[in-house]
Amino acid sequence: MTSGDDKVDVSRRQAIAAFAGIATLPALLAVFDANAAPLVYELRPEPIAPGIWVIRGAQEAIERSNGGAIANITIFDTRDGAVIVDTGPSKRYGLALEALVRQLTGKPVVRAYLTHFHPDHVFGNQAFAANVLSAPRGVIDGLAELGESFASAMYHAAGDWMRGTEVMRPGTECSDGVETIGERRFRLMGLGGHTPSDLALIEETSGILVTGDLTFLDRAPTTPHADLARWRSSLDTLSAIAHARLVPGHGPVEEGARGIAQTRDWLSLVEETIRTAFDRGLSSNEAMAEPLPAWTEKVALARYEFERSVMHFYPKLEAGEWPRVDKAG
Ligand SMILES: [Zn+2]
Repeated sequence: MTSGDDKVDVSRRQAIAAFAGIATLPALLAVFDANAAPLVYELRPEPIAPGIWVIRGAQEAIERSNGGAIANITIFDTRDGAVIVDTGPSKRYGLALEALVRQLTGKPVVRAYLTHFHPDHVFGNQAFAANVLSAPRGVIDGLAELGESFASAMYHAAGDWMRGTEVMRPGTECSDGVETIGERRFRLMGLGGHTPSDLALIEETSGILVTGDLTFLDRAPTTPHADLARWRSSLDTLSAIAHARLVPGHGPVEEGARGIAQTRDWLSLVEETIRTAFDRGLSSNEAMAEPLPAWTEKVALARYEFERSVMHFYPKLEAGEWPRVDKAG
């Protein structure tokens, strides 16, 4: 063994000791370089109804500073075990979530619904048994197809937070209808548009509506796998559902439906601004610099997500692959 290997082993031992609470603070700091954040997710569950909590994601892009913890996670206590919606961005997060749920409810997770295949929502899957993980067929197939490329992108963006994380496919396929767990009734709705397969659900006894990334609130929606017409149709479906509280994929929990309206407005803004820029003959760089309306100033990552949307919709426009859809549709 070379001295280089020894060094690696020593720091790994130090890291393990640090996480076990054995090491002193200087030892902990010595494990990480000056730019690295300590790799501990601080999960803060916010109660939103009796026996129901949300862990809010940061209103940020996936970065080393947040470990990819940008999506909301919902936790339901039931007499037969805990139910969660989405598992977070990494194995490390999933394990922390699993421990937190036991602490909050005194029970294991008996069901984890996955809203869609984006890594910030499903890369904590390894902390749970395959048959506990439940998603529509489209999410399961999407993870099988794109999971590895998501994994490398996540390692690139979030670095060491991702260590040990592997793509894990759900072992239970869910379909539209009600699943009763303990005293709670989860009405599952297979929708789409943010990605090819998006799951939304309402827990009927509490009226808590969990939309996944079909709605974003005060944070700009991401569109790399979006079908905008289908997304609008899913928003129509969601807006017809009476609810006590709505949990968006990203952003604050609300009693109203501002997230539905804001997501719809954002999709129209993106589509119209990008199409108009293209029709005027602007380059993609020029399109990215187009002005955005004043209301977007209060929306986190508006410019960043608009630029990303230009980057993936412009090539489609150039290839004639982004058909114009009647705005009323
Ligand atoms: Zn998403």
